[in-house]
Amino acid sequence: MPSNPLDVLAIAAHRDDVEQTCGGTLLKMAEHGHRTGILDLTQGEMGTRGTAEERAAEAADAARILKVSWRTALDLPDGRVENTWENRLKVAQVLREQRPRVVILPYWKGRHPDHYTTSVLGYEACFLAGLSKLHVETALASHSERSEEPALGTSGMEVVSSPRNHSKLETGNSKLPPHRPFKILYASLYHDVRPTFVVDITAQFEARLQSIYAYKSQFTDQEAGRNDFPAADDIRSRVEAMARFYGMLAGVKYAEPFVQKEVGLVDDLAALPVKSI
Ligand SMILES: [Zn+2]
Repeated sequence: MPSNPLDVLAIAAHRDDVEQTCGGTLLKMAEHGHRTGILDLTQGEMGTRGTAEERAAEAADAARILKVSWRTALDLPDGRVENTWENRLKVAQVLREQRPRVVILPYWKGRHPDHYTTSVLGYEACFLAGLSKLHVETALASHSERSEEPALGTSGMEVVSSPRNHSKLETGNSKLPPHRPFKILYASLYHDVRPTFVVDITAQFEARLQSIYAYKSQFTDQEAGRNDFPAADDIRSRVEAMARFYGMLAGVKYAEPFVQKEVGLVDDLAALPVKSI
């Protein structure tokens, strides 16, 4: 069991999703003294631009900019994130190891199938991780034995930012105790939905922008993918426009949007933020 559980873990399909949807919030949490982490489900091998190796190095740079304590990429196939038993087990294993109190998932609707699939996969993994009778390591091992494919397990685990060596999750004889996150939030920036709340990232906005620029293979001008990627000098204005829009909804300069399924709980009406009129 890790000595330091994560306070906040953001789970996303692709490297750079977290930077684009909730990077400012992660940085703000780290600046408040919380321990934060990022789990990317894929390594980006299908991307039009850059290789998986380049993206790993870029993800490490972005993690440093966002002051993230822990970051790993699983080995799910890029462009083919599927909500399978094996994939849910892989995510549940990470949840049991890192023991986050808060999990941030992508919003459950969107254009890219990997994004909305990650949302449901992540939610169901949070449920599984809390089942005390489920031995995740055994279930993963027996799944690999039955599978024709080579044992996936956690062999693709790759740590780019970690205070201790997580190059492999504990497997075999070790048994990670069950853990279910207390809170599940959905980062909704990729989808046009009214957020339940926004986080003021005015003070973190510039660093968050730099964390996106860290993906040089994606966001520098080049011929590959010219029709699918914004021009480099367009990125700032796009990122700023979105952050400004969500900021304006709450009367701050820049913000990131979130949806939560639960109702809010209020103690003191006089302390409620955001002006009505
Ligand atoms: Zn993505």
